[in-house]
Amino acid sequence: MNETDPDNAGAPESARMSVHQHCDIIVIGGGSSAFEAAVAARMAGAERVVMLEKAPESQAGGNARFSHTGFRFVFSGKEELRTFIPDVPDDIFETMQIDEYTRQEFIDDLNRVTQDRIDPDLAAHMVDKSNEALHWMKQAGIIWAPDKFVVVNGKRYFEPGNILQPLGGGRGQLQQWRSIAEKLNVDIRFNAKVIRLHGDQSRVDGVRVLTPDGTYDLTASAVIACSGGFQANAEMRARYLDVGNTDFMKVRGSRHNTGEVMRMMLDLGAQPAGHWQWAHMSPIDLNAPKMESSLRADGVGNTMNRYDYPLGISVNSQGVRFFDEGEASHAYTYAKTGRTVHLQPGSIAYQIYDQKALAHANYGKDPGSTRFEAGTIRELAQKVGLNPDVLEHTVQTFNAAVRTDIPYDRSKLDGRRTEGLDPDKTNWANPLDEPPFYALPVTGGITFTFGGVGVSTNAEVLNTEGLPIRGLYASGDVIGLFYFNYPACTGQTRNVVFSLSAARHAVATA
Ligand SMILES: Cc1cc2nc3c(=O)[nH]c(=O)nc-3n(C[C@H](O)[C@H](O)[C@H](O)COP(=O)(O)OP(=O)(O)OC[C@H]3O[C@@H](n4cnc5c(N)ncnc54)[C@H](O)[C@@H]3O)c2cc1C
Repeated sequence: MNETDPDNAGAPESARMSVHQHCDIIVIGGGSSAFEAAVAARMAGAERVVMLEKAPESQAGGNARFSHTGFRFVFSGKEELRTFIPDVPDDIFETMQIDEYTRQEFIDDLNRVTQDRIDPDLAAHMVDKSNEALHWMKQAGIIWAPDKFVVVNGKRYFEPGNILQPLGGGRGQLQQWRSIAEKLNVDIRFNAKVIRLHGDQSRVDGVRVLTPDGTYDLTASAVIACSGGFQANAEMRARYLDVGNTDFMKVRGSRHNTGEVMRMMLDLGAQPAGHWQWAHMSPIDLNAPKMESSLRADGVGNTMNRYDYPLGISVNSQGVRFFDEGEASHAYTYAKTGRTVHLQPGSIAYQIYDQKALAHANYGKDPGSTRFEAGTIRELAQKVGLNPDVLEHTVQTFNAAVRTDIPYDRSKLDGRRTEGLDPDKTNWANPLDEPPFYALPVTGGITFTFGGVGVSTNAEVLNTEGLPIRGLYASGDVIGLFYFNYPACTGQTRNVVFSLSAARHAVATA
């Protein structure tokens, strides 16, 4: 079927594609939630599934390209975990300290960090389906590996609920999904930017796609939007986020997450949901690249994170502490700490460590990291450009306030705190007294935005009247779900749970 195409009106003859194509399910995006939706749709019985990825093939994959993609999920304990990682040698597995992660723990974590703002039905859906979703990924062919841990007395300690990542991290996950999707004949199109949704606030039945060769229309019984947040769009960051100067904030992930599909859905009448003024922002190397900041210059991903702050102290450019570095493990604080750093003068802070702290540290050791070293705190201050008197005073006051009568225990919230400071450090407080000392300059980097579209537990996009827009589904960062903060590694779980729900409902109701 041919039709005059207004988007092609001024285009040369060769660029006018004017082709109408039809398939069963359109998935917008090329990241992890898109692959999960596409594979789930094929497995649920959809014959023709098309994935439309805006990025060229060399930049495809969304945020997972820059991440280790840890997953948080409900599971019953070590025995169940073993079924995901059968290749870990027995002697290593023995050292892994793995307790069950219960439904209630996951719900409590979500409620606490989102200040009880998360939608209870969506939270319960994600939590209740998390176990099935990870088993589904395993059955679909995803190979798993242990996630990050700390070693204490030869034992490996993990964050509660967050034990697994796909083998090869985010890139490994994307490669594995691509191979699974190709075997299922998912039609993956790169350089395919969705520029229009066809429909209205009661029904969507297709999209218009812009390619280097022109535009075409694609119709389907359902469209699943997996197009990410708006964190890579400086104008939208500045417009929506509650703190100033986010337009020059570093963007940790994909440059292609610019929010236009989210905006198209809102323009169509989709309900806004989640925390529009807030985003996942975490501390990263001050000299990380402005865009795709987690990627080191040599292309290695996720090396610019600076999450060891619970081990030391953080000071701003005036040499003064400004938050409780030991509130909880980084898994429960890092997603808001980038914002706290961003709010400091010049959006800069310095993480200060001594040898004791460094023994437990994971970050800032890679080649290319910005790191200063000195034998005294005064010398360190001079090297990084802080006032030596002020930094020395900050460290001396901190050291004197540490309750050294409380035992230090890195494997849990140890309650070893300071007393009488403003702010106090409430766990893992250790005097900084073993030189050489280190300073890691950091800034805040944005990971993904919390505002998005409202969905049902079937991942149907809701309109402003709260009714499903038939044929339109969403999964991943484009959903508005989180508020204020985020428990580490929930994004990937949300992706697979809502992608599965979307695909299954879309195929069942086609
Ligand atoms: C450095 C980093 C580390 C992270 N670590 C973790 C972690 O360990 N665990 C965890 O759970 N989460 C983590 N996250 C968050 C998580 O990875 C993301 O939230 C998640 O990948 C989002 O998936 P998504 O599929 O929704 O979006 P993305 O993966 O960002 O994909 C969106 C896709 O949509 C495409 N797109 C956008 N607009 C259009 C358009 N108009 N037309 C067609 N395609 C379009 C983009 O090109 C992209 O491919 C991390 C994120 C970053 C950046």
